[in-house]
Amino acid sequence: MLIFPILASIVWAAAMHWRRQWPSFVIVTLTVIGLLLVAMIMRAWADHMPDAARIFTGVVLWPYLLLTGTVGYYIACLPRPPKPHECQSCRYDLSALAPKGLKCPECGTTYRGPGSEHAPEPAPLTPIRHGPVKARRTL
Ligand SMILES: [Zn+2]
Repeated sequence: MLIFPILASIVWAAAMHWRRQWPSFVIVTLTVIGLLLVAMIMRAWADHMPDAARIFTGVVLWPYLLLTGTVGYYIACLPRPPKPHECQSCRYDLSALAPKGLKCPECGTTYRGPGSEHAPEPAPLTPIRHGPVKARRTL
């Protein structure tokens, strides 16, 4: 039974990684087709299976298929975050423009990416000692 949340997590993570790109839709579609095949096989062999298999198909497999497919396609349709050289509000490509004091020519938003005066300060670096730390002397 642990295969169901593991499979759904893998499919949703892959759909999130490649969202709005064709691999995410292919992965979700292949998963839905695979689950449909399992459901069809279980339906074809329903006469030869115990009652628990029929209950499994009706109670677990179909809702799981709907949940995995619906959430997977929803995740695959989510927008991708803008790249660092793109405008954060309209995604206009600002890579060819000088970053100092730049405002987006499309929407007028102030550019806050790398190279601009609004870019976040880099983290202060702590120097590393050369050699081992001297042992403290106790009195
Ligand atoms: Zn813009």
